Amino acid sequence: MNQMSTGPVRKIIHVDMDAFYASVEQRDNPELRGKPLAVGGSAARGVVAAASYEARAFGVHSAMPSVTAKRKCPDLIFVPPRFDVYRAVSQQIREIFAEYTPLIEPLSLDEAYLDVTQNLKGMEVATEIALEIRTKIKQVTGLNASAGISYNKFLAKMASDLNKPNGQAVITPKNGPAFVETLPVKKFHGVGPATAERMRKYGIETGLDLKSKPLAFLQEHFGKAGSYFYGIARGIDERQVKANRIRKSIGAEDTFVEDIDDLQLATAELRPLAEKVWRYCETGGMGARTVTVKIKYSDFTQATRSRTSPFPAADASGILDVASALLATVHPFARPVRLLGITLSSLTNEEGDDDLSRTQLDLGL
Ligand SMILES: [Mg+2]
Repeated sequence: MNQMSTGPVRKIIHVDMDAFYASVEQRDNPELRGKPLAVGGSAARGVVAAASYEARAFGVHSAMPSVTAKRKCPDLIFVPPRFDVYRAVSQQIREIFAEYTPLIEPLSLDEAYLDVTQNLKGMEVATEIALEIRTKIKQVTGLNASAGISYNKFLAKMASDLNKPNGQAVITPKNGPAFVETLPVKKFHGVGPATAERMRKYGIETGLDLKSKPLAFLQEHFGKAGSYFYGIARGIDERQVKANRIRKSIGAEDTFVEDIDDLQLATAELRPLAEKVWRYCETGGMGARTVTVKIKYSDFTQATRSRTSPFPAADASGILDVASALLATVHPFARPVRLLGITLSSLTNEEGDDDLSRTQLDLGL
C-alpha cells in the first residue's frame, strides 16, 4: 500500500436502514404492508418513533407527537415498538459489517459508519462493498438499506440520503466540495434546527454561504463546532470512524422562538426533550441515573441543576418528573428563559456491553 505523507484517501461507508422500526413491523406482519404505519404510542402523550414511507407521504415523521400524526393521517396505524426484535436485527446487520471491517461505528440501531479503506476482503472499490453489504442485509433480514460512500464521515452520511430508499450514492474527492456548496446548511449533519436558525441570522443558508465565513467568525459564534463547520463547508471532515463508541451522556436541548417567563410553559417544553433523550436510551438499551437540566437565560447566562437517583429512570415520564422538579427549583426565573436542555448521564449499559463483547468475539474468530 502506498503510504503518502498525507495518508491514503479514506473510504467510508454510511449504512442506514430504510424506515427501520416500521419496516421490521411490516416485514413481520403482512397486514401492515403498504399501509401508513407509525411505531410508537397512540396515547395523548405518545410520540412517533418511526414512520413507514406510506405514513411519511402524509407528513408524518419520527419525533412527532402522535396526536399531530393522527391529525395529518387519520388512517394511521399505531404499533407499539418491539425493541428486542430491533436489537436482534441490528446485531445481524453488525455481523454482516464485521465481515468487511472491524472499524464499525454504530450511530443507532439502524445506522453505522464503516471504514473500509483497508478491508478484510481486500476489495478496492467501496461502492462494490456497499452494494454487497446491502444485498446481504436484504438476504439475511429481508429489509432494505441505503448507503453513502465517500472519503469522510460527513459526506458519507449526506450521501446515504441521496438515493434513499433502497439506493446508494458516492461522493468523490473531486465532487465533494462542489456538492457541499449547493446544500442548505439545515440539511448538514451536526446542524440542528436551532443552529440552522442562528446561521440564518448571520446570512448563512447554503454551504457556499458557510464557506465564505472566516474560521475565527465561526469559532466566535459557534464555539467548538465552529472549526467543524469550517471544514465541512469545504468537504473536509477529519473525524475517524471509532469502533465501539460508548456514550457517556445523552442530551437534547431547544432554543425557543420567544423567551419564556412562565413556569408552566417552560415545564411543557421539557416534555419533548425528555421523550427525545428517553428514545436514545431505549434504542441503545441503556438506562440513566442522573438527570441534568440546563437553563439558559435571555442574557445568555445559564444554570444547571442535577439529580442522581439510585435506579435508572423507567420511562420518559420518569425523566420528565425529575426534570420538572429541577426546573421548579430555579423559579421564579432570574430572567426569561431562552433555552432548556436535558442531559442524562451515569449511564448503565448492560445490554450494550453485552453486544460489544459479542461483536469482539466474532471479530476475533
Ligand atoms: Mg434509518
